[in-house]
Amino acid sequence: MNKVVKVSLAVAVSAGLAVFAWGEIKEIIVKQVTEKKLAEAGLTPEALKKLGEAGFQSDPMVLAKISRGGQPAGRWKEGLMFDGMAPMPWLKSAANWFPGTEEVQPDEIRVTFMGSSPLPRPGQMGTSVYIELGNGDNFIFDFGPGSVANYLASKVPLNRINDIFITHLHWDHFASVPYAYVFGAWGGRWHEAYRITGPSGRTPKHGIKHMVEHMKEMLFWHRENFGVTPIGKGWDIEVNEFDFRDDGGGVYNKNGVKIIHWRQSHGSDGASAYRLDWNGLSVAFTGDGRPNSLTAKYAKGVDLLITEMQPELIAISSNVMGTMPFTARNTVDMAHNPAYAAGYLYDQVKPRLAMGTHVSFDGYSSAEIIAEVREHWKGPFHFGAPDLVVVNMTKDKMWVRDGVVPEYPNMAPPKWDVAATGGLLVPVPEHRRQDVQEQSIRDAEIPPDKYYPRGYQPELLPFWPSDKPIFLPEHMVPEGFKMKKVKKEE
Ligand SMILES: [Zn+2]
Ligand SMILES: [Zn+2]
Repeated sequence: MNKVVKVSLAVAVSAGLAVFAWGEIKEIIVKQVTEKKLAEAGLTPEALKKLGEAGFQSDPMVLAKISRGGQPAGRWKEGLMFDGMAPMPWLKSAANWFPGTEEVQPDEIRVTFMGSSPLPRPGQMGTSVYIELGNGDNFIFDFGPGSVANYLASKVPLNRINDIFITHLHWDHFASVPYAYVFGAWGGRWHEAYRITGPSGRTPKHGIKHMVEHMKEMLFWHRENFGVTPIGKGWDIEVNEFDFRDDGGGVYNKNGVKIIHWRQSHGSDGASAYRLDWNGLSVAFTGDGRPNSLTAKYAKGVDLLITEMQPELIAISSNVMGTMPFTARNTVDMAHNPAYAAGYLYDQVKPRLAMGTHVSFDGYSSAEIIAEVREHWKGPFHFGAPDLVVVNMTKDKMWVRDGVVPEYPNMAPPKWDVAATGGLLVPVPEHRRQDVQEQSIRDAEIPPDKYYPRGYQPELLPFWPSDKPIFLPEHMVPEGFKMKKVKKEE
């Protein structure tokens, strides 16, 4: 500090102290910040006196302002933010999430919006909510068109995409199911079935089981074709169809995780909402549907409540989105959740954080949606849109960030728990290529020596070379394919 500044500070301080005795100053301060907060900042009368004697600023008001940037110390609460909305110290960045850089902590839940719209578009795929728990368990709630791209970009290996809970059988909520089924099996889901949970319906034909059976039929050619490479249990599907009428009934209870369901009013029977509870934390996801008193009941007090929402902008939105106004009005009023109603529901449930997804995230409507939500709900709210909004939650903090993924990511390698079995079991393919393809078309293939350069002749594998299962001992499995984080059974 140069001499001039030092002197002028000293003059200012002594002038201030001449007018106010310490007791008076303290009284003023206490009105604005509590004594505790003064102590937290080290602003004891002794400390101030020493600062003043050394020629430094000793006005506690000035020092308090400078040290806290104008904010009360000890918490992140500015403007209309809320207690407990703060980034955790282990986050690599408080602004962004980068796949593969952070472990979910033992007592933490991470929720990622892998798809957030009924209408897929490059920044918003079909609805899908990914829930990762600190015990290593992961769950997919709805799996809409294109959302699988965000899972892969987030480094979720294809063979680990499993435990899928479908709210209802609208295509915008499950179009990625067949993709991850066949490519997951090819990509290494060899030792476990694909597990899908969903509601029954008015008749057996309306239930999830019927969909799965017919999805397998739809994929007949594809399954036979991929069946010439190792698949193992990859084609097995464990379907857990629950009675859609059994409001509050359990659909999952394992490893300390409980999931219940209840009905949603969504045009026809067989639409459901879910709530997951684990380790004293809870997330409810309603899928689609009209504002629902059952959600008010079963999601009551949940930490994170995720609903769909539609802005009250029918005439404008129908022009923007290219929907006839009467179709838009009728669709919302018959089957969807207006943003006003979402706010009303949030106020009934009183979650620690309310989020709206399944909504076109557009500049013209976002402020309007927030205003509509705020009509009834004054608590924490955030959009679950566009894609890759990431929520970290613990018992005392919640934080929402934007995930960042490359535009052209590649798949993460499959992960196998080789430590548990001492190696990797590679199953025998179900079919031989020569049994599912006529010889004549193979005869029409251009011989490899015509296109590989002279002197370069790779050893090709046009037919699977083994009619027996193969066991690769642990040391022969490439490091990147070994599962590092092993599930902790509780
Ligand atoms: Zn939908
Ligand atoms: Zn729907």
